[in-house]
Amino acid sequence: MYSKKIVIRYKADIVDKPVVYSLVKDFNLAFNIMSARVSPRREGLMVLDLTGKKNDFDRAIRYLKDLGLTVDPLSKSVTQNVDKCVHCGACLAFCSPSALYIDKKTMKVMFDTEKCNGCGLCVKACPARAMEINLL
Ligand code: SF4
Ligand code: SF4
Repeated sequence: MYSKKIVIRYKADIVDKPVVYSLVKDFNLAFNIMSARVSPRREGLMVLDLTGKKNDFDRAIRYLKDLGLTVDPLSKSVTQNVDKCVHCGACLAFCSPSALYIDKKTMKVMFDTEKCNGCGLCVKACPARAMEINLL
């Protein structure tokens, strides 16, 4: 089973389309809406946790993009604010893909965006609030 968190951004003309319903009906995906918001001009953003077969997931992402939606992995929205990070290491145990790791030369905590899966656990764990999910 494949699972991934994605951020969907859409324009006003898509708001009324049953996009999430199609993900279930046409692509056999289970979903959890982690966040959703619509602006006064009816542009919107939705964070979905999708689970299903990888093949169905890939087809669903193509479908969403063909509709004109912007689709990104949630991990792209995760950042480490290096000005706030005090390299305490409190986040390391929460990061199962080891996207946060210690650089043995500098002994600083580094962030590898390619490995991040967007789980958000480091955001809650960081006492300095250096890990952020920016959905702008
Ligand atoms: S918990 Fe926060 S302050 Fe500590 S190393 Fe991780 S990102 Fe830096
Ligand atoms: S969001 Fe999850 S995977 Fe990404 S750096 Fe934080 S703990 Fe690691």
